[in-house]
Amino acid sequence: MKKAVCILVLVGLWSCKDPNADGGDSGKLRVVTTTTMLTDLVQNIGGDSIVVEGLMGAGVDPHLYKASEGDVSKLFNADIIFYNGLHLEGKLVEVFEKMGAQQQKAVSLGDFLDKTELIGSEYFASNYDPHVWFNIQFFKQFAEKVTRTLSEAAPENAAYFTDNNKNFQKKLDVLEQNVKELISTLPEEKRILVTAHDAFNYFGKAYGFNVVGLQGISTATEAGVQEVQRLSQFIIDNKVKAIFIESSVPRRTIEALEAAVLDKNHEVSIGGSLYSDALGNAGTEEGTYIGMFTYNVSTIVNALK
Ligand SMILES: [Zn+2]
Repeated sequence: MKKAVCILVLVGLWSCKDPNADGGDSGKLRVVTTTTMLTDLVQNIGGDSIVVEGLMGAGVDPHLYKASEGDVSKLFNADIIFYNGLHLEGKLVEVFEKMGAQQQKAVSLGDFLDKTELIGSEYFASNYDPHVWFNIQFFKQFAEKVTRTLSEAAPENAAYFTDNNKNFQKKLDVLEQNVKELISTLPEEKRILVTAHDAFNYFGKAYGFNVVGLQGISTATEAGVQEVQRLSQFIIDNKVKAIFIESSVPRRTIEALEAAVLDKNHEVSIGGSLYSDALGNAGTEEGTYIGMFTYNVSTIVNALK
């Protein structure tokens, strides 16, 4: 009832707030994010002048994520919502659509990327592969857009956001340089990445890997027997040393593939678990975008060498 009144009466962009939900942070912008990658990004730009609430935690699969009642109330009480878009958060779109005028405060960061640079995909309603954060350049563009949006909403903090963005952009440049150096230590013919689902196409395109995902591009469809057979032959033909589990996808799909290769009397090992659609636990190195990216690349390079 309270929510309904709030929506009907206060349709203004920044005005629909629950006065009890501030928790001592009154006056600060309340920002809701979907994935852990975006939570980390927005925290880097907004610092302590905003309150960020991420809906999804570590190990959560955004393709399948459904909003809880608590989430819906967080969304309605937010000043700004940042989401990946491009149909990554497949089941949250319905919630955004029901928000009426409030929908204006929801920013789909993926929609601000140059579509001609995106990888097409028939699996998503957007017709694009949504796993864009695996190209660091795209993540940098997300940070620019977040900075502009926060600055418009809280002009008094614009200089602070701009400074934070500058620092973050520098760190992302260093990350990309490190990633390229690490990968350069791996011979080109060994740059083949076999994982549980196609989250790494942008990574492959940007940093020179041939990427093969077992499950198709969304985790909503499970790999069939035929697909496992086809891919196991590919692994043998290309002498792939290791394949990878993903933190947000059940490991049985990759284990089935490992078993199929071993059945054909060839060897392949599981090279480790990669972070694909979610970061590691908060408070750990892998709980940040930069730490996650570094961890993934070292794991891949060490296992394939
Ligand atoms: Zn995914």
